[in-house]
Amino acid sequence: MNVFIDSTGAMHFGGERETARNCPHCHAFSRMAPQAMPTFDELLLQKPRSVGVVLRCLACNAPVFLRYATRAFASNRVELAPQAFDVERPIEKFAFNYVPEDVETFFREALVCYSHNQFQAFASMCRRAAAVTFADLGNPTKLRLFDSLSDVREMADIEEETFAVVMRIIFTGSADPVVDLPFINTYQAAVLLEVMKDFLYQAYVRKGRLQHAMKVRRFFVQEQRTVPGGESGEK
Ligand SMILES: [Zn+2]
Repeated sequence: MNVFIDSTGAMHFGGERETARNCPHCHAFSRMAPQAMPTFDELLLQKPRSVGVVLRCLACNAPVFLRYATRAFASNRVELAPQAFDVERPIEKFAFNYVPEDVETFFREALVCYSHNQFQAFASMCRRAAAVTFADLGNPTKLRLFDSLSDVREMADIEEETFAVVMRIIFTGSADPVVDLPFINTYQAAVLLEVMKDFLYQAYVRKGRLQHAMKVRRFFVQEQRTVPGGESGEK
């Protein structure tokens, strides 16, 4: 596939002016249209080793920033490497409803670290999110969460060694993080991500959703009772 900028300043992707890739904003695999790039004259004058290009995602209209290595400078075109470097990466998502603000702060940063492949930083932020959760919910809940997360290993069929590392990161925070916090690889980080999501779900989201649903139910039952003949309408 030939990617190049022609002398009129138009960008070409293997014959097409548009291309499809994963959007870091809406997460869709979408076609994109060139929106901004250096002018052709500037490129010939400066002959940079790489160029920055902005595409527009046709699904959500957000700007998508890419960097291309340059390959050749001719009088009628500047050829670029076929593969672009994504300047922004899609950030892993989590619905933070019912999660307290201080836990959210740490886990949001954990998600950013994970999305940028900074796995040791990711592990550290997971531990901080877990530590704040335990401080908030108390020891009995910590024990209950330990038990219910232990079931996750069996349910998701995760091998013992990986799971032990993940549990150590979440549950054994102490005064000496250098000794205590294990070094994790890509796979262990991926498992930690899913276990942490389940952890926060069990610690806050599940309870919050149930309590909210019950409150709504109670409200409607009480409403029906205040309307004459309302009870007979109940199924
Ligand atoms: Zn998009």
